Amino acid sequence: MEKIRTLILGGGPAGFTAAIYAARANISPVLYEGIQPGGQLTTTTVIENFPGFPGGVDANTLMDSMREQARSFGADVRQGTATAVDLGQRPFRVTIDGEKQLEADALIIATGAQARYLGLPSEEKFKGAGVSACATCDGFFYRKRTVAVVGGGDTACEEALYLASLAKKVYMIVRRDVFRASKIMQQKVLGTENIEVLWNCNTQEVLGDAMGVTGARLLRKDGTVFDIAIDGFFLAIGHTPASELFAPWIETDANGYILTEGKSACTNVPGVFAAGDVQDPRYRQAVTAAASGCKAAQDAEKFLLEQVNL
Ligand code: NDP
Repeated sequence: MEKIRTLILGGGPAGFTAAIYAARANISPVLYEGIQPGGQLTTTTVIENFPGFPGGVDANTLMDSMREQARSFGADVRQGTATAVDLGQRPFRVTIDGEKQLEADALIIATGAQARYLGLPSEEKFKGAGVSACATCDGFFYRKRTVAVVGGGDTACEEALYLASLAKKVYMIVRRDVFRASKIMQQKVLGTENIEVLWNCNTQEVLGDAMGVTGARLLRKDGTVFDIAIDGFFLAIGHTPASELFAPWIETDANGYILTEGKSACTNVPGVFAAGDVQDPRYRQAVTAAASGCKAAQDAEKFLLEQVNL
């Protein structure tokens, strides 16, 4: 059984920022990167809104730099995924890849969230070539072009409004005849001239060529099948936070997002902290994830000093 002072699960901006701060605070962080080293960010290409990179930065390069920075301060960055945990006793017990057993005095959960996709083969084919689950990340590439947003929730409305400020036209593909979004968001969408809502529609196929997305084939509830011409296809049908493993101990909201106390990264279990998208249904940005990783490391440091006296 390996004993660890600060265990960080997740290799996205939250996890690496936590590792940088924890290493500098001398609380000996060990970080396991999980299934998707670099995190969700690596599913996109160029990041233009991370401060400090006026020319934009390649997502993989950014994550490699964060990893290197964490290592340079002594963080132990490893490959592996937590497959079982016991947070009912201290030190916490964590199993990596079904075999390696760890004991941790403090645990930072930065396991992220996954955007939901429709599951169409054509959608998979054009991921990164016109199919995106983040308008804030990729919308800028669709200036004066035509795009579609799938979903009828607050995120879909927000993304459609954002895209409408850049694109020539935005279709919203909504599977029912009502939005799920709050009234105010609905009103904003319905009052925006270049947004057209396609009610009662499901996507059958994303259409495209060697250059990327060119359209979408939709099926209306009345049985009509029709195509729309688009350059970008944005999914906004929700996210799934990777919090299931911790659910027996850690409080979440109804959608599985870990609840943290006030402005801190503290969960309901003393010594367990949460950072990044696993606790953030709202902002979900690399920079907000990084900021919450910083908070988690500082909270962990305080906990270790006060509670574990290390
Ligand atoms: P929601 O779960 O609220 O909405 C998901 C939307 O996607 C629904 O319209 C749903 O349709 C649709 N959908 C789901 N699966 C499919 C599918 N397979 N095919 C087509 N459509 C599908 O998720 P959001 O990400 O929008 O919001 C998450 C939470 O964050 C909510 O609580 C929201 O209020 C909050 N939020 C708040 C914001 C704000 O206050 N400004 C901004 C962004 C998010 P259906 O309705 O038919 O189920």
